[in-house]
Amino acid sequence: MTQSYQITLLPGDGIGPEIMAVAVDILKVVGQQQNLTFDFTEALIGGAAIDAVENPLPQQTLDTCRQSDAVLLAAIGGYKWDALPRHLRPETGLLGLRAGLELFANLRPAQILPQLIDASSLKSEVVEGVDIMVVRELTGGVYFGEPKGVFSTETGEKRGVNTMAYTVAEIDRIGRVAFETAQKRGGKLCSVDKANVLEVSQLWRDRITALSSEYPDVELSHLYVDNAAMQLVRCPKQFDTIVTSNLFGDILSDIAAMLTGSIGMLPSASLGADGPGVFEPVHGSAPDIAGQDKANPLAQVLSVAMMLRYGLDQPTAAEKIESAVLTLLANGYRTGDIQSPGTTVLGCQAIGETLIQILNQG
Ligand code: NAD
Repeated sequence: MTQSYQITLLPGDGIGPEIMAVAVDILKVVGQQQNLTFDFTEALIGGAAIDAVENPLPQQTLDTCRQSDAVLLAAIGGYKWDALPRHLRPETGLLGLRAGLELFANLRPAQILPQLIDASSLKSEVVEGVDIMVVRELTGGVYFGEPKGVFSTETGEKRGVNTMAYTVAEIDRIGRVAFETAQKRGGKLCSVDKANVLEVSQLWRDRITALSSEYPDVELSHLYVDNAAMQLVRCPKQFDTIVTSNLFGDILSDIAAMLTGSIGMLPSASLGADGPGVFEPVHGSAPDIAGQDKANPLAQVLSVAMMLRYGLDQPTAAEKIESAVLTLLANGYRTGDIQSPGTTVLGCQAIGETLIQILNQG
């Protein structure tokens, strides 16, 4: 039976439209092979939306996203809009999208592909085989907790305040996403906190431990965040899935990403409770190379694979795409950002065409 999905496409700015075009072609080919059909609606976000309707997140875009099964986003931003007031900046559109869809879980994989192992700044024996997923809480913790602000003390001195706070419900919902993610991967979950110092972290640890009885097939461990940062660099292979709060996840997901050394290869997923998730590359809109057919579309293509696995529950289709990317790299094809001696450099479009050939052969 054919499964049908509504997908909202947000190409955004800079290299966004170029990499989105490749990703959509790949999705169509895999859809044909797997009996999946996609109904695409393109909508405005970021600088493109500011230029068209003077709003980085038009209400129509948010409504279209809410009505879809998944949202595929490329990237937003560029020099042209950098001097605008905050409410008119492209980034405000992105934050509005995350808030509007209540995306509380951010999934960032960091996988070392054998063909790109030399791109890592760490020794190849340290990073070989690394395959980590960082699950970061995205809408709570110290970035949002109240009170926050800069206040005057009784003596007139200024004092800056932020509050790290989590409710049981907030911890439980991110905990469940993390356990379920670990189930789909290697079955190991490491929860990262600072429970030796912070009460909010002790509650975090207690709840994650309590949840673990519902997931007997997942092996749970705990680390303090300072130790986790060290272990990620010392021996990253020990990790499978990591779950942590907003602030710790912001930092640890960037450390994990940089183990791979190549920003043009990194996808991400942001998931909400019921509605659609947003799937997008980690990198920005790369205005320095926009319109030159130099962009690496693979992070966008791998975001399509994440959409199929985590948004639409189509793991076989996701594997097809991931395996085609591995074959492309094994055959020596690269974009300029990941080229090395002996490889063949192709433009963004040609990478897409080559991926389609590989998919059609497989
Ligand atoms: P960037 O990620 O756009 O670019 C950093 C460097 O990496 C550049 O040299 C760029 O050419 C290169 N690069 C990035 N993606 C690439 C790809 N797919 N292929 C080849 N090379 C690639 O970060 P930046 O330069 O700091 O930001 C540029 C704009 O993007 C800014 O307006 C920023 O606000 C925005 N931005 C958006 C997002 C997002 O949409 N989620 C994330 C980060 C930055």
